[in-house]
Amino acid sequence: MKKIRTRFAPSPTGYIHIGNIRSAIYPFLIAKQAGGQFILRIEDTDQARFVEGATELILDTLRWLHLEWDEGPIKNGPFAPYTQSARKDIYLKWAKQLIADGRAYADDTTSEQIDVYRKEDEAKKVPYLYRNHRPVNPPEWKEGLPIRFKTIPKEYSWHDEVMGDIHTGPEVCDDIILIKKDGLPTYNFAHIIDDTLMECSHITRGVEYLSSTPNYLALYDALDFPRHLFVSLPHILAPTGNKKLGKRDGAKSVTEYRDDGILPEAILNYLACLGWNDGTEQEIYSLEELIEKFSVDRIQNSGARFDEVKILWMNGQWIRKIATEQGIDELFARTCETTGSEDFSRYDLFQPIDFWPASAKQETIEYKKSVLAIIYDRLKTLSDLRTMTTYFFEDPAIDLSMITSSKFLKKYSEQELVGLLTETIEALNDVDEADWTEDNLQNLLNDLLVKTEKKPAEFFSLIRIAVSFAAFSPALHLTLHVLGKNRTLARLNKVRTALSNN
Ligand code: GLU
Repeated sequence: MKKIRTRFAPSPTGYIHIGNIRSAIYPFLIAKQAGGQFILRIEDTDQARFVEGATELILDTLRWLHLEWDEGPIKNGPFAPYTQSARKDIYLKWAKQLIADGRAYADDTTSEQIDVYRKEDEAKKVPYLYRNHRPVNPPEWKEGLPIRFKTIPKEYSWHDEVMGDIHTGPEVCDDIILIKKDGLPTYNFAHIIDDTLMECSHITRGVEYLSSTPNYLALYDALDFPRHLFVSLPHILAPTGNKKLGKRDGAKSVTEYRDDGILPEAILNYLACLGWNDGTEQEIYSLEELIEKFSVDRIQNSGARFDEVKILWMNGQWIRKIATEQGIDELFARTCETTGSEDFSRYDLFQPIDFWPASAKQETIEYKKSVLAIIYDRLKTLSDLRTMTTYFFEDPAIDLSMITSSKFLKKYSEQELVGLLTETIEALNDVDEADWTEDNLQNLLNDLLVKTEKKPAEFFSLIRIAVSFAAFSPALHLTLHVLGKNRTLARLNKVRTALSNN
């Protein structure tokens, strides 16, 4: 059986846009499922588009997503180098071989002359094809001259694993450039040489390369290379309209999603299922499950629409899955990873704690974990922590209007509110520190509810606002439990005084 070897072949032209990384996920899954190899090849032959640092960004992004390559930069492997600019001589050798075989030629036609040909064809209303202007006596090749393929126009038929059987006529065959003036190969030429020499089994790439495939097939024939399996991935569409997802449609880079507090599991899960399903209703897949269940024949052949809301939903699902299956310690570790450090300094997710001295590091960590444990099920992104937990880390500024204009509380006079707070403070004051548990607090709050004869929404809103002055908080007994007896009472007292003095 043929070895399964797939590749991801990005060009280092900037950040990795969310839509492009799917071209890494599918080949990774194909290779891992078959126990094959996943190759990373850096296609940096377009010097004009090269961006410094972009290769490092690609490596970082793949590692973050756990798409570890078996061969490629850093790792190397039997077909090194895996960066095209370092393979220049290989392409030139094959191009020269094609010249020797009469299937390519050096071309000294100037770009001005090419323009003239183009205009002539336009005036004659015939499609512009370079092969119709092919020089009769091409020069000897020397450095600085491009090399072009000498095509033989004919019909081509091939099978694409996603798009099905395809047939094209001779009109699409042309003399494509193999080696450019700068001595570097074009993508059209280099990828065929590399995919063949690197013994790839599949070519998994965007559907935009489908129209060039007849010219690629002509090259396979001329080089006497066997064809690869072609897996063309349909476009990821912008949220509206029929265009391909682009930067202007809010498509962020993978690293931006990471910095926004999206987990790699969610990105992987979302993108893998964008245009693929296993025929069931399942929506949440781990990488291991994807490796097990992925199949090329269930990749959709029409474009899939990008939906950021779904990524957020999926991220929420993954946050809960990690917390419940692996525990809060793991979720905390993942939060630290996302936010840069244990004290969340990169994003200041949690405010500095003024309750303990800097030496109380362990207590601080435990406290953060207890906050995370009661809030995680409301998070869509890990960076939501920043805005959702402020009051756990600093005493909130008192804003009485939040109480007096609350739809649940505005019917009460300030005196009545002070009375309710007093009753609560007295009851809580009687609880020993050691009895300050979630269950006891829940019972105590329920007893107070019965005693005061207030509606839950009214009574709980008052206490919740008084301790947090936030738009929402986790369940009240959990919030009070984490805040602790002293901080809870101090805050309630302060609000009571403010209301009395109003
Ligand atoms: N370097 C090409 C790109 O980034 C890769 C296409 C392919 O996978 O063959 O679009």
